[in-house]
Amino acid sequence: MENKIILTGDRPTGRLHIGHFFGSLANRVKLQDEYETYIEIADVQALTDNFNNPDKVRKNVREIVLDYLSVGIDPNKATIFIQSMIPEIAELTVFYSNLVTIARLERNPTVKTEIAQKKELFGESVTYGFLGYPVSQAADITAFHASIIPVGEDQLPLIEQCREIVRKFNSIYGEVLVEPEAVLSKSKRIKGLDGNEKMGKSLGNAIYLSDSEEEITKKVMSAVTDPNRIKKTDLGNPDICMVAYYHNLFTGKEEYEKVCEECRKGERGCVACKKELANNIIEFLRPMREKRAYYEARPEEVDKIIIQGTEKARSKAKQTMEDVKKAMKLDYFN
Ligand code: SF4
Repeated sequence: MENKIILTGDRPTGRLHIGHFFGSLANRVKLQDEYETYIEIADVQALTDNFNNPDKVRKNVREIVLDYLSVGIDPNKATIFIQSMIPEIAELTVFYSNLVTIARLERNPTVKTEIAQKKELFGESVTYGFLGYPVSQAADITAFHASIIPVGEDQLPLIEQCREIVRKFNSIYGEVLVEPEAVLSKSKRIKGLDGNEKMGKSLGNAIYLSDSEEEITKKVMSAVTDPNRIKKTDLGNPDICMVAYYHNLFTGKEEYEKVCEECRKGERGCVACKKELANNIIEFLRPMREKRAYYEARPEEVDKIIIQGTEKARSKAKQTMEDVKKAMKLDYFN
């Protein structure tokens, strides 16, 4: 059962932004050279809290694939697939739902936090589908015998839940499933333009990988700076300025230090500082935008990537399903 399979993915609920790039995408581009990589567009999972907005989910499936291709995910190395096109995942979810209790799901810290954040959608009573999404996630992981799952700290309870399901399955039916290991992402979470700890669509504080030059400039010009600076000669504090924070990400180390020094000495104007940052971000994202434009102009090429990836993923999941059914004595008439 020794293998080196990695599973990652995203819920297609919006385009990907620079927070995603530094938080996971850049890492995935490296990992695709080292591991057999599966990347899931988790449309079924996206529907658990967007069941009333199927158009949004459908539209973003393609947007996310374009984002993947633009950052350098190589379909010859990584398998990109659509979750709902692998019915074996749904089937595994049903089998695994016998191996987890409602109480255990309700205690899962990640699920608890998310339910609290979705009060507006769920009111006082959460859906069966949303409460059970960690079970579906266990099916995603085990369908491909993935042994390594790169995650942020807040997702560790989901992997623990999956490990419990795997152990229970293997102890009842025999050693069929691989117990995955969570690998904590070393990348840091990128703050929003407004200084919020999280960058997100709903917060309106994100720069998207697909943003145009004009959009990037407009967003950077509205970023939160040191509020005490009125004129250029005011002594500034770059530690409380989001423009300085982003210079640290997109500008070279020396340049960043120069930005901070000039700001502190009152030798740098905020408008010029923002324009410089906007240009650096535009240049950083330029190759991604160009790659995206290439694929946007060739939709049939993108279709082929998705179809071939999904076929490959399905054949792997089918093999797992055969083993699972055999172990569960459900292999009738074989
Ligand atoms: Fe921020 Fe630059 Fe203005 Fe300093 S000069 S407060 S770093 S925008």
